[in-house]
Amino acid sequence: MKKLRYYLVAATMLLGAAQINAQVKKAPDYKKMGCATIEPTTTFAFDTTGKGRGLADNYYLWDNGKTIIVRIMNTGNSKYKELVKKYAKEWEKYANIKFQFVETGNSHVRVILTGNDGGGNYSRLGTQALNVPQNEHTLHLDTTSFVSPEYTYTAIVHEFGHAIGLMHEHMSPTSGIKWDKNRVYASYKLLQGWDKEMVDAQLFRKFNVSYTNGSKYDKLSIMHYPISRWETLDGYSVDWNYSISQGDKDLIGSLYPKKGNRINEVPRFTVSDFSKMDVENSVVKKGVSFYPSFTINTAGKEGRVYYLAIFTDENGNMFETKSENYKVFGAAGTSKTTVLAPGQKIEFNKGKHDMELFIPTSDIPENIRNKNVKAIFYVFLYDNDELKIVYSSTAVNCNMAR
Ligand SMILES: [Zn+2]
Repeated sequence: MKKLRYYLVAATMLLGAAQINAQVKKAPDYKKMGCATIEPTTTFAFDTTGKGRGLADNYYLWDNGKTIIVRIMNTGNSKYKELVKKYAKEWEKYANIKFQFVETGNSHVRVILTGNDGGGNYSRLGTQALNVPQNEHTLHLDTTSFVSPEYTYTAIVHEFGHAIGLMHEHMSPTSGIKWDKNRVYASYKLLQGWDKEMVDAQLFRKFNVSYTNGSKYDKLSIMHYPISRWETLDGYSVDWNYSISQGDKDLIGSLYPKKGNRINEVPRFTVSDFSKMDVENSVVKKGVSFYPSFTINTAGKEGRVYYLAIFTDENGNMFETKSENYKVFGAAGTSKTTVLAPGQKIEFNKGKHDMELFIPTSDIPENIRNKNVKAIFYVFLYDNDELKIVYSSTAVNCNMAR
C-alpha cells in the first residue's frame, strides 16, 4: 500500500512550525498561533530539482488585478470581523489585488474566526482555496491567539499573505538557516505527534529556488516564523515580526504589479465544478472507464496537465501494481496528459461522456478485480520539473463486481 493519502491529508493537518517554541518563548501563547499553509506534497512521485523552499508559489497566484471575494463565515464577534477586513486590505497597498468582503453568496476565500478550538491559524495557499466547498472555510483564525494588538495584526496579515500565494519566509532556499533537525524532529514528535515524514513535509521540504522570484531572504518578513536559538545549530534566531517588511512589499509588488505585467509567469490551472465521476466496468471494452465531470480553467502560460484516476481502499491507501503501463505513483491507476494553453475554460463529461480515463482489466491487480473499491480523481500540473497538485476529489465508489 502506498501512502498517497497520508501525504495529501498530512499536508492539511495544519499545525505550525512555531508551536514547538512554546517552551522557550515568552507570550504570546505559541500553542494557539501555529500556522501552516495547505500545500500539496508531491515527493512521493517526482524528485524535483529544488534546492530549498521559497517564498511564493507562482502556480497558485491569482490573476494580477484580481478582486478576491471574501466571506467571513461567522456572525459573531463584529470587532474581529472589522479587524479582518481592515488588515487584509493592508496588502492592497502593495499588490494589485482587491479584497471584496461579502455577507452572502459564493466567495473565493472564506474566513472562520474561532475561539480556542485548537485549530491555530492557517490558510489555503492562493488559488488552492478554490478547491474548498463553499460551505467550508479556507482561512482559519483562532481569536484566542489575538493576545495583543500587534499579534492580531500580524496573524491576520500573515494569513492573508498565504491567501494571495506567499509562503513561509523561513523556508526560503536562500535563508541558510542551519536547522538542528534532530531536535526539531524530537520536539515535534513529542508535542505534535508528528513523524519525521510530516516534519519534513511541513518544515524541511525542498523547493526550487525560482520560488524566491529573485528576492533575497528577508529575516524581517511578516511571513517569517520566530525561531528560537535551540532550533538552529549555530544559535541563529529570529524575533517576532510585526509589520510588512520592505522585502514583503517588493515581493508582493512583483507578483501583483500595479504597473505592467508579472515577470515570472507560470502555467496556472484551477478546477471548478467537479460534480461526479462515473465508473463503468465493461465486458466489451475489457476494462474500467472513469468519466470525471469537471471544468478546468487555465491562466498564465501554456502547461502540461495530468488527469489521474487511482484506485484506493476505504482508507485512501493505494494498491501496488505489477502493471508497467497502468501505474500511477507506483500504484494501480490510469492517467492522461495533454498540454493546455492559457485563457481557457474547458468542460469535461458535462451531460455526455467526452473524456475517458481507461484501465484494462488485465492491468488491474487481481486482488481488487470484481471488488468494491474506491477511486480518487486528481489533476496535476507539470512544469519546469515541478509537479503541482491542482485538484483531488473525494473518493468515489467503484463497484467493479460483475
Ligand atoms: Zn503561515
